Amino acid sequence: MSDASIVYYCAPGTRSHNNTRLAKIARLCDALDLKEVVKEGELTAVKLHFGEDGNDTHLRPSWVRVVVEKVLAAGGKPFLTDTTTLYSGSRHNAYDHIQTAYRHGFAPSVVGAPVILADGLYGENDVPVAIQGKHFKEVHIATEIVRAPALVVLSHFKGHEMGGFGGAIKNMAMGGAAVRGKRDQHDTHVQINHETCVGCGECVKICPQKALSLQDKKSCVDITKCIGCFECITVCPIKAIDIDWATQIEPFVERMTEYAWGVVKSHPKRICFINFVMNVTPDCDCAGWSDLPMVPDLGILASYDPVALDQACFDLVNQAPWINDADKRIDKSKADKFTARWPHTRGEIQLSHGEWLGMGSRQYELKKI
Ligand code: SF4
Ligand code: SF4
Repeated sequence: MSDASIVYYCAPGTRSHNNTRLAKIARLCDALDLKEVVKEGELTAVKLHFGEDGNDTHLRPSWVRVVVEKVLAAGGKPFLTDTTTLYSGSRHNAYDHIQTAYRHGFAPSVVGAPVILADGLYGENDVPVAIQGKHFKEVHIATEIVRAPALVVLSHFKGHEMGGFGGAIKNMAMGGAAVRGKRDQHDTHVQINHETCVGCGECVKICPQKALSLQDKKSCVDITKCIGCFECITVCPIKAIDIDWATQIEPFVERMTEYAWGVVKSHPKRICFINFVMNVTPDCDCAGWSDLPMVPDLGILASYDPVALDQACFDLVNQAPWINDADKRIDKSKADKFTARWPHTRGEIQLSHGEWLGMGSRQYELKKI
């Protein structure tokens, strides 16, 4: 696919009651014409990320409510959905995940729709979707995401320690897969630098697979148990745990993108996307914290093409000024702001591989509304 796709765009900022964020989200839903996706009386999955406990830069329930109301107005029966995480945390089974969603304000009384997780109590419910990928001929997508006739994907656009950035593609890829599919995407294991490991045991405590143990005050990994969830990388205070980024990052991002393609393929002409380029933190909402944003809020965008949409958001971020100048972790010489923060990442592969798969076009026409 190479023709330019339409990406609708609402710029940030207002001093008018008619141009609030809620009004902009409503305008974007109208521009997409949700009746193209949502059919009378049919269930409609609103896919989002409720945020890990401690994160508070996930999407706001009041924003999601606008979308829910638009789905209802189009005759659909909306429900909010996401999937179980590989790592232990506040979303590691359906019960904890729903409680987390409620604590973050995504209660039916607030948003106007129930939370129905897509992959069962423990993330074991998936269905195969055939694709023609470089890594996969079949991907394992969460059952209720596939079974929902229509899908509206709402994504917080921000950084990600592995993917480079997280937008619509990442939201569908990890967020649309059941546990088996998440493992397919990770498919790697960590390595530990014994020169620098101080034996604090933080990684051992968090590992969901019991793949780590302390031996002679050094963390050791059993690679037959490691599922590559990377939780240990996130918690290690001195960054003694890593993967072989040089060889692993490209196939990882490609596998991720192929899973996103599985979600899109399972909803021909019944899926649309809205990205919120606000609170562009370096980390994803899976982190149990929210760091300072990297750039100012840049607006809200919507499209039927997830590749064009993520490309447009990626370009906006890269063209924007830094707002945390003092952050020494950032190499400001890099054109890709996410690579500037996470040097091993190459988020652009999501876009090039997505286009190669036929999921969308990197060419886009920005329509300001
Ligand atoms: S060793 Fe690290 S990456 Fe592997 S399963 Fe344990 S926490 Fe996850
Ligand atoms: S968290 Fe890091 S420093 Fe602590 S034991 Fe694990 S590898 Fe070693």
